[in-house]
Amino acid sequence: MRIGHGYDVHRFEQGRKLILCGEEIPTAENIGLLGHSDADVAVHALMDAMLGAMAMGDIGQHFPDSDEKYKGISSILLLKEVAALLSKHGAKLSNADITIIAEKPKLAKYILKMRTNIAEALGTDISCISVKATTEEGLGIAGKGIAAHAVCLVASQSKATVRNAEVFRR
Ligand code: MG
Repeated sequence: MRIGHGYDVHRFEQGRKLILCGEEIPTAENIGLLGHSDADVAVHALMDAMLGAMAMGDIGQHFPDSDEKYKGISSILLLKEVAALLSKHGAKLSNADITIIAEKPKLAKYILKMRTNIAEALGTDISCISVKATTEEGLGIAGKGIAAHAVCLVASQSKATVRNAEVFRR
């Protein structure tokens, strides 16, 4: 077993869709997150946790935001690519715990759908995917955007040590 952690933050932008764990969340103010892809901050944190568990670099290396082919792309598709990369190296996500930090909007009623989206993308059981939401009580950056942490365990048969993330660049 290997452990991984990922963290990401994206700022709010008027007129963007808000996508979290592959789910489009309606907002009263018509705000979403700014980013090159669909800016799904929770899936970004999860992908970094999965890559981190394997010492395979980060999503910036695998899916550079300078590459036009990732413009506006669904992060769920990128998550499937990360899972395929792990699979290629004999590894599979065992479980993940994602914490979304947002002052707004309220996310409670979307949590089950978010967990389902992630589980389906990874071909795993929903019991292996936890998504939680919290605020910073108005004290932090979360009023200006949304942040997410993810930790995961990856089951890996591979004893190989990845010494250079460049190896995994596309
Ligand atoms: Mg990101």
